[in-house]
Amino acid sequence: MKSRERYEILYSIARELASSLAPDEVLNTIVESVTRAVNAKGCSLMLLTPDKKQLTHTVSYGLSRQYLSKGPVMSNIIIKEVLNGKSVTVLNAPIDPRVQYKAQAKKEGIASMFSVPLKPNGEVIGIMRVYTSEPRRFSTQDVGFLGYLANLGAIALEKAKLHEALNRDLELRCAEVAKLEEEKNRFLRFLSIAAHDLKAPLSAIQGFMWVMLKGFPGPLTDKQKHMLERSAHRIDELLNLISDLLDIPRIETGQIVPEIKVISLYTVIRPPVRDLREQAKEKGLKFKLELPAGLPKVYGSVPRLQQVINNLVNNAIKYTPEGGITLRVSPVDCNVQIEVMDTGIGIPQQDLPKMFEDFYRASNNPAEVKGTGLGLSISRRIVEAHGGKIWVESPCPQTGNGTRFTFTLPTRHETERRQR
Ligand code: ATP
Ligand code: MG
Repeated sequence: MKSRERYEILYSIARELASSLAPDEVLNTIVESVTRAVNAKGCSLMLLTPDKKQLTHTVSYGLSRQYLSKGPVMSNIIIKEVLNGKSVTVLNAPIDPRVQYKAQAKKEGIASMFSVPLKPNGEVIGIMRVYTSEPRRFSTQDVGFLGYLANLGAIALEKAKLHEALNRDLELRCAEVAKLEEEKNRFLRFLSIAAHDLKAPLSAIQGFMWVMLKGFPGPLTDKQKHMLERSAHRIDELLNLISDLLDIPRIETGQIVPEIKVISLYTVIRPPVRDLREQAKEKGLKFKLELPAGLPKVYGSVPRLQQVINNLVNNAIKYTPEGGITLRVSPVDCNVQIEVMDTGIGIPQQDLPKMFEDFYRASNNPAEVKGTGLGLSISRRIVEAHGGKIWVESPCPQTGNGTRFTFTLPTRHETERRQR
């Protein structure tokens, strides 16, 4: 064989080895190329078992199924020599005493067998064997060339092993994710039923309490009235928690998707702002709204986005003893960005990464300020269900104090582009 042909074969195998994601293909290419390159009958790559006593056919070309299923190739004299790193030529396999399956070799029409060690990292892991139909002794150049190809085969085999291990790992991880997903869904169903079943009797109890407080069943003493008022207030808190708990499975199972349509941000922002401004004023806080004209439309659920705005601005009011709150809406790249900034107590650095987790409340939370710690995690779910992002910074980079919550919503055109 001409040296140019050899280089071409080496190059095409090396290129496939570097680019192919399926090492099986490379192995098949190697055995086929070797057979064609040296004009042989066939070629096989055999791997040693871990105890190094047997060889198993891994890939082959030009050999019959019957021959391949002849049984395990035991570690005999030839193999021992190959394992010592040497190449071994058998000129007449059907009569050579070193050959284990002489009769099968004869039936297959094999005359010579040439064995080369596979040594990817110096250690022999198997052999490459070339079979010819006529007794043949390979030239020194051919032997050298077959040695190179065997090395490439060894690399491809290592890659195949790695590939298989990665695939197995990936399958395991996918199964784990599916199991976790199933457990999460079961928990969400449970949460939904439990929260729903608690809501009805609690609302009924609250109704009775208000009837008693109004004095319809008879007059109450001041003490009784005070206790009933406190009970009704606690039930209010419980009902708020239940409605938050009901929101989680609703959003997670995509029940808000049918509510999402093309909307204007003005419809989202203006209605709740009236109440929020009032609440801030009652606490002696300034409230500034920056809502420029000409904002792009977005795909969204008006009540759900209002829930996010209410959560964020309510928090800002709740955690700001003095100063003010700014609600700013602006177009940024392919998004509309909504920022809620305050001059409040801020959030300690170590709490920032956990702020959007269920039930998380910051370590500097004043004891008298009550809450469930679900407002932000629900807001995150709503924003993400809209294809947006939400994050928090404290202190607010613009003012150097307080906190800034920001969330983005992709514009209508951006959402349509992503769906294409
Ligand atoms: P609720 O579920 O009733 O809203 P919450 O306000 O405690 O209760 P989140 O809205 O999820 O729950 O907020 C979680 C925590 O984040 C709060 O307990 C508070 O510690 C912190 N936090 C949220 N917003 C601010 C803010 N603007 N400034 C300072 N801390 C804040
Ligand atoms: Mg809150």
